Amino acid sequence: MWTQWLDRWRQRRENAALARRAIPEALWRRTLKRFAFLPRADTLEGVELRRLTSLFLDRKEFTGAHGLVVTDDMAVAIAAQACLPVLRMGLSAYDDFVGIVVHRGLARVRREIADDDGVVHEYEETLSGETVQGGPVMLSWRDVRSAGAKASQAYNVVIHEFAHVLDMADGVPDGMPRLPLDISPTEWRSTFDEAYLAFCRAVDAGEATVVDPYGASSEDEFFAVTSEAFFVAPEGLLAEHPAVYGLLQRYFKQDHLARLLSSADSRSATAQA
Ligand SMILES: [Zn+2]
Repeated sequence: MWTQWLDRWRQRRENAALARRAIPEALWRRTLKRFAFLPRADTLEGVELRRLTSLFLDRKEFTGAHGLVVTDDMAVAIAAQACLPVLRMGLSAYDDFVGIVVHRGLARVRREIADDDGVVHEYEETLSGETVQGGPVMLSWRDVRSAGAKASQAYNVVIHEFAHVLDMADGVPDGMPRLPLDISPTEWRSTFDEAYLAFCRAVDAGEATVVDPYGASSEDEFFAVTSEAFFVAPEGLLAEHPAVYGLLQRYFKQDHLARLLSSADSRSATAQA
């Protein structure tokens, strides 16, 4: 009785949020066209992505840095890409943070580092995105906007930063997110460790890789860059790291490559018709 009441209350609250944050048809079509790796509007996944994107817009707070005005186009572009990895897991995977700070271009941040003698050195770093445990997700709009064009290079700043959010949900940024029951920590660790070591050797040898060489900097970055590749350049990831591809497919519960191939088929069929 009590759980039925709770379910009904949740449903009413969700319906109210969906009505409040309904995405206009033209804006949604424009977003899917700009970012061709997102599911098509007329598929079940496309409908679910639109629902999650509305709920994301309702639950998260967007702030423009240095006077930048975050338009509806910008918020929907970010929310839709952020919701792609959690299409099957649901938005509760992102419960640990609320704020998204959008910079116009690269963000400049001050860093401090202490040397062996305890002397603190200050330096400046420029970033396209950053995720802090429990804190806001920071994104460069210039990088978000170019995600459609850069997909073939396995580059996607939104998916990269939200992979960090998933990784940090268990409290430790170590390249291993909270796992579903059918994946054991041992399987995750051994698959990723092996791929990471091979990847570092390839990067050190100066070999060209589909996966962003930045992933060689640590295991948590390797999880973030392979997640980017999984969603925007899955064929390349499958060829380069088949075991990681298979594990990510089970983790995200999505066959993203099959989805992209079928939407490419239906696009060429429409073009020929
Ligand atoms: Zn990163």
